[in-house]
Amino acid sequence: MNRLGVHAAVWVAGWSEVEAQRAISRASACGFDVVEVPLLNPAAVDPAMTRRVLAEHDMQATCSMGLPADADVSSDDVAVVRRGEEVLRTAVEVAGEMGATYLGGILYSSLGKYTRPPTDRGRNHAMEALARVAPQAAASGVTLGLEPVNRYESNLINTAAQAMALIDDVGADNIVVHLDSYHMHIEEADAAAAVRRCGDRLGYVHIGENHRGYLGSGRVDFAGLFRALVGADYTGDITFESFSSTVVSDDFVSALAIWRDQWQDSDDLATHARTFIDNQLRAAARAA
Ligand code: MN
Repeated sequence: MNRLGVHAAVWVAGWSEVEAQRAISRASACGFDVVEVPLLNPAAVDPAMTRRVLAEHDMQATCSMGLPADADVSSDDVAVVRRGEEVLRTAVEVAGEMGATYLGGILYSSLGKYTRPPTDRGRNHAMEALARVAPQAAASGVTLGLEPVNRYESNLINTAAQAMALIDDVGADNIVVHLDSYHMHIEEADAAAAVRRCGDRLGYVHIGENHRGYLGSGRVDFAGLFRALVGADYTGDITFESFSSTVVSDDFVSALAIWRDQWQDSDDLATHARTFIDNQLRAAARAA
């Protein structure tokens, strides 16, 4: 019942047609239903091509992104906020045109290490920008997901509670929480409680190990997390996310601090993840 997805960066660094073909065909061959397409530079992604390649392989797409520092909707500077809003609008348009119904990630600030806490003014800017973009997303059939990330990747939303508070303040129906086991392992006292706190507002889940390598080879309590997801009757997408500098671009390596590679073989990693997630879901359903 949950669609199972995998991030395109398991196979490719960019989104040329050759890269789209490779990521989508390999994701399908490894047993996934969904490919998550990164829109770090949404204007560089061809949605018509993506839609066609998805259809060729009978696959679905979701989209994810983190805003750049010069287009940070949580900035105190209204010109920077405006640029951020434009990037979000372009991303929504591209997502909708490729047939994706979900755009998640760090839509509320830039992706990077901040050197000071968020300001009230900046949080208000993020809230207002999301409130302005949400209707456009709704008209395109796109749900927006706010992903709490660890403190080194944003200063505004590090926990499910903070995401829920911002969503309440924005007051749009098509904004959900996007939880990620890797980030939760750093920031949440209790990942299962975070799932329960989100309730029906949980809309997307990233599965990653604490070191972002092979699932089950690290410290994340996947059994507890999957029991919480099954217990909450979560029916949304579950997407595997892992990065290696053998695949991704230098920008990606820097943004996500991928200093040590956890793997080289994309297909082996993805096939393992698919089986791991399946086994966790089955075990959690039996324990329920
Ligand atoms: Mn994630």
